[in-house]
Amino acid sequence: MSRTSSRSRVLAKLVVLLATMVAMSGSLWAQTKNLQAGAIAELRSAGRAEAPVATQTSAEQSAAQKPAVTYLRCGTLIDEKAEQPRRNVDVVIDGENIQQVQPAGRGVPRGAKLIDLSHETCLPGLIDTHTHTLLTGDVTEEDYNKQILQESDAYRAIVATQAARLALGYGFTTIRDLETEGAGYADVDLKHAIERGITDGPRMRVATRALDVTGAYPVLGFRWDWPDWPHGVQVCDGAVGCRTAVREQISKGSDWIKTYLDGGYRVTDKGVVEDRPTFTMEELNAIVDEAHRENHPVASHAIGINGVHNGVVAGVNSIEHGMYIAPDDLKMMAQKGIYYVPTLFVGEYVAQGRAAAGAKVWEQMVAIHGDTFKRALNAGVKIAFGTDAGGFPWTVNPAQEFPLMVKYGMTPAQAIRSATVTAAELLGMQHKVGTIEPGKYADIVAAPGDPLGDVTELEKVNFVMKGGVVYRKPQIE
Ligand SMILES: [Zn+2]
Repeated sequence: MSRTSSRSRVLAKLVVLLATMVAMSGSLWAQTKNLQAGAIAELRSAGRAEAPVATQTSAEQSAAQKPAVTYLRCGTLIDEKAEQPRRNVDVVIDGENIQQVQPAGRGVPRGAKLIDLSHETCLPGLIDTHTHTLLTGDVTEEDYNKQILQESDAYRAIVATQAARLALGYGFTTIRDLETEGAGYADVDLKHAIERGITDGPRMRVATRALDVTGAYPVLGFRWDWPDWPHGVQVCDGAVGCRTAVREQISKGSDWIKTYLDGGYRVTDKGVVEDRPTFTMEELNAIVDEAHRENHPVASHAIGINGVHNGVVAGVNSIEHGMYIAPDDLKMMAQKGIYYVPTLFVGEYVAQGRAAAGAKVWEQMVAIHGDTFKRALNAGVKIAFGTDAGGFPWTVNPAQEFPLMVKYGMTPAQAIRSATVTAAELLGMQHKVGTIEPGKYADIVAAPGDPLGDVTELEKVNFVMKGGVVYRKPQIE
């Protein structure tokens, strides 16, 4: 949600950092607990014995730590396959996958482990399709500049490991991390560290450095005679330059290409968010063509009428934020299957602070955003759950997006679907995540109440399993 280019980054330092983290993970946890007692401490307590140990090779892990078959006994199960929730169900888990889903009460074989969630509602691991693990809050320009100008990439990567643990603890077992905001390719490193069991976190799809044109993204406004201020994105100009940037990012590990399509927001008398487009259509078409030719999707930050329109015409895969979208563009999104990731909560979260700093437009845009969401829903646009976490501090639970989606017209069931099935489809991961059924990863979360009746129950997730490993569980078990 910020507007910020980049210079070459200190990857070697990150290698050293990750190696150090292996050795230090225990003490890091201890410090974390002291700093932020609540959510982190609870997360820490759960299931660590079963979690992979970073110092072992993967072969040793599978021999020594392959979990036995686990029976997850769910009082209610929202599997996202059946129309209605099911009552009293056992989800049988073998290794990292779901083996079977069956009525409870058939008994548990000797040697199998039973986890009793009979007073809970189980559902697929949640998916947040718009996060920034490398950011720790971005309400004002000062918040942003402090991170870009004063904190090294190595420091920010350490902090990002905490963001990843928090995300997992909230119940987000998969995230799409939509750019590092000046921290180079540290998101690729974080993703690899999680995959290798060095640090805990969600499955990640990453966008690395993002793209914007010269002069459009922070940090801006500093002395002109100093040529190389850090940038929050990779700057590219011209069709050839932007094609080259896409190739570079993909070669270094980008799963997604992220573009910033507008800035300079203003609300008209008719309640339309006017904006200043960044890329020319020639540049944007080159970006989309290059990314798609290499089988990589494109996510586009677009807040106002022109940025969204350009993205939709160019055929990007997702529109991020979309505070105002013209009716014809909503129609085209539905026709082309372009996803809308509204990020309602961050809009409300930053509005007051940005208005106080002089940008009143952010307050004006909140109601317009809600109306756009309703119109998108009615137009049949595919809406995927995304929060922009990192744009607000990671200590704030991103699940607060759910009640806003309901406030603006979704049923709780639709909101949950946006964070499971729809989000999995946007990420191209629908074959392994997003529903609870045999063959998929055992990414399962649970909450004590009934989220289909009151979606705020999803802010109380107290059980988190990813790939058959328990990372958080209710204290009473
Ligand atoms: Zn964002």
